[in-house]
Amino acid sequence: MSSELEKEFPKKKILEFDYNPPKKNWMDIPVEFKPGNYCYPAAPKNLKILDLPNPREWSPTDEDWKLPENWKEIILKGMEERLKKFRSFKLFMDICVRCGACADKCQFFIGSGDPKNMPVLRAELLRSVYRNDFTTAGKVLGRLAGARELTIDVIKEWFYYFYQCTECRRCSVFCPYGIDTAEITMMGRELLYELGCGINWALEPVANCYRTGNHLGIQPHTFKDTLEFFADDIEEITGIKVELPINKKGAEILFVTPSGDYFADPGTYTCMGYLMLFHEIGLDYTWSTYASEGGNFGLFTSHEMIKRLNAKIYAEAKRLGVKWILGGECGHMWRVMHQYMDTMNGPPDFLEEPVSPITGTKFENAKSTKMVHIMEFTADLIKHNKLKLDPSRNDKLKVTFHDSCNPARAMGILEEPRYVIKSVCNHFYEMPENTIREKTFCCGGGAGLGTDENMEARLRGGLPRGNAVRYVQEKYGVNRLACMCAIDRATLIPVCDYWAPGVKVTGIHEMVANALIMEGEKERTTDLRGEPLKEEEEAQEDV
Ligand code: SF4
Ligand code: SF4
Repeated sequence: MSSELEKEFPKKKILEFDYNPPKKNWMDIPVEFKPGNYCYPAAPKNLKILDLPNPREWSPTDEDWKLPENWKEIILKGMEERLKKFRSFKLFMDICVRCGACADKCQFFIGSGDPKNMPVLRAELLRSVYRNDFTTAGKVLGRLAGARELTIDVIKEWFYYFYQCTECRRCSVFCPYGIDTAEITMMGRELLYELGCGINWALEPVANCYRTGNHLGIQPHTFKDTLEFFADDIEEITGIKVELPINKKGAEILFVTPSGDYFADPGTYTCMGYLMLFHEIGLDYTWSTYASEGGNFGLFTSHEMIKRLNAKIYAEAKRLGVKWILGGECGHMWRVMHQYMDTMNGPPDFLEEPVSPITGTKFENAKSTKMVHIMEFTADLIKHNKLKLDPSRNDKLKVTFHDSCNPARAMGILEEPRYVIKSVCNHFYEMPENTIREKTFCCGGGAGLGTDENMEARLRGGLPRGNAVRYVQEKYGVNRLACMCAIDRATLIPVCDYWAPGVKVTGIHEMVANALIMEGEKERTTDLRGEPLKEEEEAQEDV
C-alpha cells in the first residue's frame, strides 16, 4: 500500500509547498477543486432517506451546483436562526481578535500551506458573511470591516474548506478566547445541508444508521453471525468458548461500540478483546442489534442528526431494562456522549449511576450520562488486580499511543489508556510532547473525511501525526501505533504506511486480550491476529 500511495502521491510533490502568504487578498482567490482534496457529494438517495432538501446528481467541479433558486435567502435565514439558537456561534463570530495563535496549529495547514486551512481563516469564510449581513460595521464599511457578500463562489469555498476540517478542536486548545473552530465548521456544514450540499462518506453512514441502527447497514442476523465468527476464532486461539449475549433483557449492562469494531480489521481484534475480557470477568451484559452503533456521523452533519441517531442508545437501554451503559473504543462517539447525550435525549432517569459489578467502583463522572468508557472500566479492573495479565505476550510490540482527538480533548481521557497499555505491554514509548494529550494531532480523516477520493488531503492532514510516529520509529524501533477510536484504526493505516512505513495500527483491547490469562485456557501460540506470539528469530532460538 505504501508504494502504491507513494506512486500516486510522490512525497517530493506532496512536500512542495511553503508557508509564505499569497500576494493577493484571500477574498480575491477563488477556490480550486483539486482532485484528491475534496469529497464526493451526498447521493440523492441518502438525502431522500433522511428527508433532507434538494436531492440531485451533481459534482463540486460543475459550474452549476443546481442550488434552489432562493439559495441565498435560505442560507441567511439559516444563519439568523442559528445565531439566535447557539450562543457559542454568535460569540465565536464576534470575539476573534485575529491574533493568529491558532494559525499554525491545524494539521491541514501544516501539511498544505494553504492559508484557508488556518483555523482563523477557515472561520473567516463564514464570519465575513456574518459581518456583511448581520453587523452594522460590516453593512457600513463592507470589505474594510472584513465583510463580503454571500455569492455562489463563497458557498463553493465553504464546501471545500469545511470538508477539509476534521472538527478535531486542536486549534481551540491554543485560542486565548476559547474559540472552537470545529463548532464553526459544524455550522458551516449545517448551512450547506440546507442547500443539499453534503458529502456522501458522512451522509451514507447516517442514512444506514437511520435504517438499520449502524453506519454500515449491517442487519441483525449478520451482526450475530459476525460475533459468532469472532467467538470461533477466540476458541481456536484460547480453547475457550465465550458467550454472546445479544438483546438479553434484564442484563445489568448494555454494551455499545462502533460498527467499525466488528466490521473491519484491525478493529475486529479489539472486538474479540472485549468478548474475551467480558467472559473472563463474568460480566452480566448484552449487545443490542438495534443500538448496534456507538459512532454518530450525525456529529458531522447537523445537531438535529446527532440527536436522531443518538436516541436509539437510551431507547434500547430502556427496552432491555439494563442498569447502565458501557461504551467501546471510539472517538467521536464520546464527544456526543459527553457533550450532548443527556441533554439531547435524556435525562436517563430510568438508569442507575454506574457501578462496576467487579470492583464496586462508582463512576461518578458518568452520573448524568450513565455511560462509562471502556478504558475507565478496564483501568479500574487492573488497578484492583482483577485481571491476570502476562505483558510479555506483547513483547514483540514496541508501542506508541495516539490520543484520539475526542477522548483526549472532549473528555480528558489521557491517563487511563496509558495505564492500561503499560499494564499489558513491556515496551511503550511516547511521541513528542507537542503531539500528544490535549495537543494531539488528528489522523487527518475524522469528521466524515475518511474516504479515498480525498486521499491527498488526508495524507497532508496526517503529516504531523505521521512525522511524530516516524520519530519514535527511528528512535526506539516502534512498530505499533495504539489508539482507542474506530475511525483512527482505519485512517491511521494509510497515514503510517505513507509517513512511517512498517508501523501497524492496533486497538488497546486487542493488546489487553493478548495479555489476558483466561481461566482454563490452552497454551497460546498466536496472538489475536493469528500471528506467532514471539518474533520468528526469538522463536527459532527457543527451539
Ligand atoms: S487564536 Fe482565537 S482569537 Fe486568535 S485568531 Fe485564532 S480564533 Fe481568533
Ligand atoms: S478543528 Fe482541527 S481541523 Fe478544524 S480548523 Fe481546528 S485544528 Fe484544523
